[in-house]
Amino acid sequence: MRLDLVHDERLTAHDVALWLCRDDLTDPELPGNKLRKLKYNLLAAREQGHRTLLTFGGAYSNHLRAVAAAGRRHGFATVGVVRGEPRHPLNPSLAYAAAQGMHLVYLDRDLYRQSRTHIPPVLAELCERIGDYYLLPEGGSNALAVRGCAELPAEIDIPYDLLCCPVGTGGTLAGLAGGLPPGATALGFAVLRGASFLADEVTRLQTETWGAPTANWRLDLDHHFGGYARTPPDLLAFCTDFTERHGYRPDPIYTGKMLTGLYARIATGAIPAGTRVVAVTTG
Ligand SMILES: *Cc1c(COP(=O)(O)O)cnc(C)c1O
Repeated sequence: MRLDLVHDERLTAHDVALWLCRDDLTDPELPGNKLRKLKYNLLAAREQGHRTLLTFGGAYSNHLRAVAAAGRRHGFATVGVVRGEPRHPLNPSLAYAAAQGMHLVYLDRDLYRQSRTHIPPVLAELCERIGDYYLLPEGGSNALAVRGCAELPAEIDIPYDLLCCPVGTGGTLAGLAGGLPPGATALGFAVLRGASFLADEVTRLQTETWGAPTANWRLDLDHHFGGYARTPPDLLAFCTDFTERHGYRPDPIYTGKMLTGLYARIATGAIPAGTRVVAVTTG
């Protein structure tokens, strides 16, 4: 795994060492964590003889893109259930998914929400037509996804104290924490507003995966910048400045929020002097 040491006086002033763990370079088409989350799910789908992957996502979802690309690469048909009304032309995420052969189905917000508890008739009809399909939850987080993410820490071949990642659904954080070496802690930065449900979700995912949660992770809920896909000027300014200084361009939706949050915590002294931090650049 490529690790880039970040040379920055804002870190040395607080005696904190930071490496970027470049999981974003693992695959040119897919964010690293999406690939890890799909790995064991694709194996399970194949083993169970399914030919179609069915999943859910918002119109700007990286997860839908990833499932579409992985399906094409590994010979699965893909169906993406999209939250909201169809819009033409398709936005870049959905255009990409469609170009990979994903069949897009739209559910308005109410039906989409209901589909978490029971399959609405429009979708039931479609499922009937598809026949057998392998269901990936919204955002792709399940026990097999957690197992895939748990493999990352072993690929980091330097000693460290704190592993950071951005958090959407919590599957990546659940897995990374589960794979940490003894003594290390994981810190996840929520990109959604009002994400206090995430602690329960990470606990649930770890319990589903290993029978019990691990006690080595924390959540930062204070650096969502207004919510998912909100990119106010101070966040964009941080990302531009970081790109100029370090040649890595944080994406404002995920890794930009993680890095801004991490720098803010370092500035306030919330990260003790001497801490060796690895930040996973998921995308
Ligand atoms: C999806 C995504 C995440 C969030 O992963 P979760 O497992 O849903 O928490 C983080 N970073 C990037 C780049 C992503 O695409």
